[in-house]
Amino acid sequence: MLQDLFEIDANTIHPMVEHPNARVRTVFDSTGITKNSKALIHMRVFYPLLRTIFCIALIAGTSLSTYAAALDASEARQALSATEIDVSTSRTNDFFIRFLSPSGDESKFVTFGWLGWSPKVIHWLYNDANRPSGISATPAAAVASIQAAMSKWSAVCNIQFVYDGATASGPSLSGTNFTGGGPRDFLNVIAWGTGGSLSGNTTGITYVSASGPSGGPYTINEGDMAINYAFNPNLDVTLVHEVGHMIGLNHSDVQNAVMSGPPLTSYVSLSTLTADDIAGCQNLYGPPVSTARTINGSITNGGGIAGVTFCARPSAGVSCTASVSSGAYSCTVPNGWAGTLHSPSVANNRIPPQTFTAVTTNVTRNVTALSGIPSCNLDVDNNGLIEAATDGAAIVRRMLGFDATAFGGLAGTCAANTTSAAIFSATSSNYSVTGGAATRAATDGAVIVRVMNGAKSDASVNGGLGLANEPGSTNTTWSAIQSWLNTTCGSTF
Ligand SMILES: [Zn+2]
Repeated sequence: MLQDLFEIDANTIHPMVEHPNARVRTVFDSTGITKNSKALIHMRVFYPLLRTIFCIALIAGTSLSTYAAALDASEARQALSATEIDVSTSRTNDFFIRFLSPSGDESKFVTFGWLGWSPKVIHWLYNDANRPSGISATPAAAVASIQAAMSKWSAVCNIQFVYDGATASGPSLSGTNFTGGGPRDFLNVIAWGTGGSLSGNTTGITYVSASGPSGGPYTINEGDMAINYAFNPNLDVTLVHEVGHMIGLNHSDVQNAVMSGPPLTSYVSLSTLTADDIAGCQNLYGPPVSTARTINGSITNGGGIAGVTFCARPSAGVSCTASVSSGAYSCTVPNGWAGTLHSPSVANNRIPPQTFTAVTTNVTRNVTALSGIPSCNLDVDNNGLIEAATDGAAIVRRMLGFDATAFGGLAGTCAANTTSAAIFSATSSNYSVTGGAATRAATDGAVIVRVMNGAKSDASVNGGLGLANEPGSTNTTWSAIQSWLNTTCGSTF
């Protein structure tokens, strides 16, 4: 009898009996339920636009009252006594039933019975209100934690997330006291909250809504997450689980998965996805698409320059091959990567750093190297980048008269000059940026560090330094300083 009503797919457990408004004749075999199987009854409550799922377990031997908590007692009694339930005539709500095989070996991930998101991209917003600094020190740290959790899912199945920035909007679907049933605003908001259903040791709560034709299939059109700011001992654990709900996964029937949770399993504090989680995500979205992109081209200065191996900042997921005699080089970067490729000089050819905003297709970038080290060497650690914390600090120390032993620890990533002596030697250069008679840390050094830090105006470069009063100074405006730096230092400020 049950086989006529429920279909068990070898790979997926589908909630096969979905009937938004239809007359439903669901026949139960109470003997089958109590002796042979577990049945999970989901009661679906309809709102005009919003559907929220509540779950209640009906497990072998579970008391009638548990079931009756969700359906009225007479229906529950009918269900358990092998009577027919006609949903359409008895109530406006409906429900579906998922039948698990008697052996239990069908236990696996559970979806909401929807198709997931379409397209497979979730645009989301972050609301920083009430963020506890003890859990996330800054807004950026909170966003980074959320993105890290999302990346775990994107790495194993074809779902993508796009952060659209900060918002003052709340998680609308959460409703009053995070009990659900709130209005759909089509904004996918991740916010902090507490109270109501999000209290005690509930660390997060996520509501999703879906829409589609009568009878389905339904696609998810909104997901809102609230993170408990009053109790969250492990934010990463909270986030990876809640993101699982956001993409359309319900609590798994498998214990010890990220998505484990009531009614058939219990929560576990996992932050790493398991095979069951991955199978669930792939069931909804398919396997991950290749997200690697290629940046390649040639590095030349007249002829090709061999032996350039770019370093990347940020470096995660990036690998580069050394250029060959033609100058051809290649790097592989994650899709969407934004950052800078840089290299120490090679055979007295300076390699200009290459900046990319978002690599979403394969990119050709040819690089023209620059000859020699100019009379003003700003890249004293020779890593291809001009940076205040390393190069600037070394230059100022030299101006202040430090000896060759005082330049340790000033090599940036990928630097060719790594020893104190090598960096000291590289600072033997012309840094008289103001044009004054002497090279002084208080003026020339300060200007150089300010420019390295991004100062690009009269006020920001000269402010408080009194460059015009320095004996012999000729460069007292940003344009004059910029001209001197670009001409004398071979820079592109
Ligand atoms: Zn959950």
